[in-house]
Amino acid sequence: MIELKNITKKFYKTGREITALQDVSLRVPPGKIFGVIGTSGAGKSTLIRTINLLEKPTSGEVIVDGKSLLKLSNSQLAQERRQIGMIFQHFNLLSSRTVFENIAFPLELAGTPKILIKERVKELLELVGLTDKINDYPSNLSGGQKQRVAIARTLANNPKVLLCDEATSALDPATTRSILNLLKDINKRLNITILLITHQMEVIKAICDEVAVISHGELVEQGTVSDIFTNA
Ligand code: ADP
Ligand code: ADP
Repeated sequence: MIELKNITKKFYKTGREITALQDVSLRVPPGKIFGVIGTSGAGKSTLIRTINLLEKPTSGEVIVDGKSLLKLSNSQLAQERRQIGMIFQHFNLLSSRTVFENIAFPLELAGTPKILIKERVKELLELVGLTDKINDYPSNLSGGQKQRVAIARTLANNPKVLLCDEATSALDPATTRSILNLLKDINKRLNITILLITHQMEVIKAICDEVAVISHGELVEQGTVSDIFTNA
């Protein structure tokens, strides 16, 4: 479902060249949860951002749902990006909009009729367990509740893939577990392929089928969670 082939990403900054990713290849089969773990600066954010081309690789190929994204026209790419949802460490909700309006936002952008938006938002709020918060503003929600809204928002357009960028790093351990359970539930019930990045081993152990370890921009190990962590 997601394939990175020989991805290299270099940044050029004040005359200096920084190699954030060096010849990174990975494959995430449909329906799996794949985790990439590494320390700060290892290249995790850059890696996850190449999958929806928020970062354009210097070289290599990005394939999502059978399509080579770097070969698409801008309009085709815009279409494909709707298949790729993303959630973040700091949720990125719109603070001046209610829960309803936040979740409705991508549906409005997609030109969904108002009456269908209402139904869809209600359905999504049931899925994430936040029906009673529909008219609240983000500032009235806990971190875990904000992440649930962000998950509902990104599921609005039925993505096939969900990218999670340190999605539980700002949450306490109990809230982390509840969000991980929700992600696992979404993976199983909606058959959404998940790729996540984290610096927390617990996250990998809790929900990932497969894991890759990234260090200094290179994937140094890859395998099933039991392969990588047995005897660790
Ligand atoms: P991680 O997410 O694992 O902390 P990043 O992908 O953010 O790692 O960063 C990997 C390396 O690339 C770091 O050395 C970082 O400073 C550098 N880097 C990331 N983004 C940029 C950028 N926009 N410009 C310059 N350097 C960057
Ligand atoms: P976080 O650790 O909160 O996930 P990121 O590593 O994703 O933060 O960095 C946030 C933003 O800053 C990204 O757009 C990333 O590309 C950029 N960035 C990261 N490192 C650098 C750097 N050394 N120089 C310039 N921009 C950077």
